[in-house]
Amino acid sequence: MIFLGKTVSGGVALGRIEIYRKNDADVIRAQVDDTEAEIARFEQAKEDAKREIAKIYEKALAEMGEAGAAIFEVHQMLLDDLNFVDAVTELIEKEKVSAEYAVRATCDHFSTMFEAMDNEYMQARAADVRDIGSQVIAKLRETVQEGGKTATAAERNVREPVILVADELAPSELARFDRSRILALVTRCGSVNSHTAILARTMKLPALTGVEFGGETDERMRLDESREPDGQIRTQNPARLDGTPELDKVEEFDGHIAIVDGSAGLFLVDPDEATLEKYRAKQKEETQRERFLSELRDKETVTRDGRRIRLCANIGAVDDADAALRDGVDGIGLFRTEFLYLGADDFPGEEEQFEAYRAVVEKMDGRKVIIRTLDIGADKRADYFHLPGEANPALGYRGIRVCLDRTDIFKTQLRAILRAAYYGNVDIMYPMIISVDEVRRAKQIVEEAKAELDTQEIPYGKVEQGIMIETPAAVWLSKELAGEVDFFSIGTNDLTQYMLAADRQDPRLDAFYDPRHPAVLGAVRTVVENAHKSGIWAGICGELAADTSLTEEFLRMGVDELSVAPAHILAVRAAVQACTL
Ligand code: PEP
Ligand code: MG
Repeated sequence: MIFLGKTVSGGVALGRIEIYRKNDADVIRAQVDDTEAEIARFEQAKEDAKREIAKIYEKALAEMGEAGAAIFEVHQMLLDDLNFVDAVTELIEKEKVSAEYAVRATCDHFSTMFEAMDNEYMQARAADVRDIGSQVIAKLRETVQEGGKTATAAERNVREPVILVADELAPSELARFDRSRILALVTRCGSVNSHTAILARTMKLPALTGVEFGGETDERMRLDESREPDGQIRTQNPARLDGTPELDKVEEFDGHIAIVDGSAGLFLVDPDEATLEKYRAKQKEETQRERFLSELRDKETVTRDGRRIRLCANIGAVDDADAALRDGVDGIGLFRTEFLYLGADDFPGEEEQFEAYRAVVEKMDGRKVIIRTLDIGADKRADYFHLPGEANPALGYRGIRVCLDRTDIFKTQLRAILRAAYYGNVDIMYPMIISVDEVRRAKQIVEEAKAELDTQEIPYGKVEQGIMIETPAAVWLSKELAGEVDFFSIGTNDLTQYMLAADRQDPRLDAFYDPRHPAVLGAVRTVVENAHKSGIWAGICGELAADTSLTEEFLRMGVDELSVAPAHILAVRAAVQACTL
């Protein structure tokens, strides 16, 4: 039996299924007399949960670094959120219900509110709220169990490594598992942008989400037709489990053998011997490939016939630079600075930004760091910006448009970048450009920032300035734009959505959102040609740069730099080394 899912993380896993059930599914509306004692129980459980989360934070920090651990800081904050605490307390007081019920009902209320928001990031936060609710309930239950601790399902000792199958799994639940005890993760609910998904990728777990264990929907049928990974595995109709699409329907598979093919988005239950054999071979190939790739860490990114290409990393946080350095990159081709803004409650100041940029620049020790100015808007929003609600956010007020309006915010960032440039090799890059005028205005503000720093006698470094080519207008104007800047970096993620009129956030448009579309590849070619005619370089920093089936084509087009997520560096280096131009 084969089920389809959305890829969270690639890789192949073979093993037994372990169905994971939340421990608080059976919370009932119990009545209490002593509401004060109940509120005290809640307060105690909340503090215990916070202490436990602090421990999980430390574990995640040690095993996965800051990026993997950050969510547990958020969980601690959520537990102290007054809206949450007040709502639980009020429910206990007014309705004389048990703390367990009050917590569950409050979390359900908040998570439903998040789910209804028109923003994928906020929707994904619904899972975090449910997660902290479960943890407080687990603590409350400990207080009524004689002798203390009840093992929650997540802490249960899984004896052999298993494929974990869950309705939904919270980051804290996943983080509690010992990585060596999980082979893969399969969930019915959850977004590929959720923190659980990020953790799964950080843990390098093959993982799928959106797997419908129950009834078939029209949409899945459509997906079925459009997805045929290698022509060898045909997806069957998962409606064999007719009825409600709930996890209960796969309970009967608890302990059964299964395969997770993360990249192809397949979950194969009770596979036959031939399929098992095929996947064992695939797994072996993967292991060999990883071993082979790790040997390329110190090697040059050069083709068979001696052309050297710059291979850089895309990073979104200071610590990401470590993984990039480990695999021997030439520099940072795209430093997405949004993280400084999205993780904050207010505009990050110049000093804070300067410290973050300088940290990366110093880590990179003379290698080039391209810092992209703030690309806020569309799906990346922060409350304190008070961005307008928009019918079409992707076609809206974002990136350079915001910065050229809010020059105070823009100049603060530019000053921080210029100051960081004093400590190494920095370039500035502007996102979402559609006109020559925008570039000139941005450069003018850089000049103003330099003049201010001069007056204040604050040291800063030399920078080159480039733009992202990620709109059809920028492609069309690439000849003119090339006369204004030092480099182009092609953002195929947005370029694809704007050229093909297909929202990159909408999973229903997956079949239309095709970065390999001839229009996109044609645009890349044109942009590189126009860059070279003006004597500037052009690279690709969109996800397409990591598509190794196109590496040779890109090199033939004359692409000067490929910038990819740290996880893809070695695979791209291997692809370059296999090219003869
Ligand atoms: C792109 O659009 O290709 C890009 C690299 O930028 P982002 O994905 O951050 O929009
Ligand atoms: Mg972009």
